[in-house]
Amino acid sequence: MTSRFSKFKTKILDFFFPRHVKCIFCGDELNENERFDSCEKCKQNLPFITLSCPRCGGSVGQNNSGVCLDCKRNNYDFDFARAVFDYEGRVLSAIHKFKFRGQKFLAEPLGNFLCEKLAVWGINPDIVTYVPMHPKREKERGYNQAKLLADFVANMFDLPCLNLTEKIKETPSQTTLNYAERKTNLVDSFKFNPQFKADVKGKSVLLIDDIFTTGSTTSEIAKVLKEHGAGEVNVLTIAHTKLKDEK
Ligand SMILES: [Zn+2]
Ligand SMILES: [Zn+2]
Repeated sequence: MTSRFSKFKTKILDFFFPRHVKCIFCGDELNENERFDSCEKCKQNLPFITLSCPRCGGSVGQNNSGVCLDCKRNNYDFDFARAVFDYEGRVLSAIHKFKFRGQKFLAEPLGNFLCEKLAVWGINPDIVTYVPMHPKREKERGYNQAKLLADFVANMFDLPCLNLTEKIKETPSQTTLNYAERKTNLVDSFKFNPQFKADVKGKSVLLIDDIFTTGSTTSEIAKVLKEHGAGEVNVLTIAHTKLKDEK
């Protein structure tokens, strides 16, 4: 009876959330034990970051020792950042669907990749938070993809997910700017949420976003969090990219 009921429940879920039937990367049909993520073939070919810069988490070559060139130039306010994938190919299209095409359900399979890596990277946070969007932009999109990821990760590890900062200044698109220009662009953009003053004091905060580009946004938020007493701020993203003009 129980199993019949659970089968029935699964069917109901499939009806409302038919997403799990297909691989989130290639769209192939999945068999029963692959239901909640990606097919074996995709998993083997995803652009996982294997060798990374100890500071920003970006891919580095075999012979690279110490921090990458960008990290030698830029002074980040977070302790370190890590990403699961290079921002390319199927990972890029999955993030696009998640971010721009309303496919909110991708928070779960993508968030799972973050959860799997947390222990590997020795991140043991007290609090989870996320990169906030300006309320106007969030209203346009209908959701904040970074918050969906953060909620999922926090829930899996039974940690609080708090909206520690707010985006108070609308900033123009940063895609054409380099790290220094982005930094200037972001000054006074984020405000600490004073109701959490006691919560962050001396605590290890995990800051979640979807993509690490130059690190200027997460660095600015880390700065604000540390000014308000956070002991440590580490950044975790699904993917890591670098602007070409920075290299
Ligand atoms: Zn696939
Ligand atoms: Zn680096």
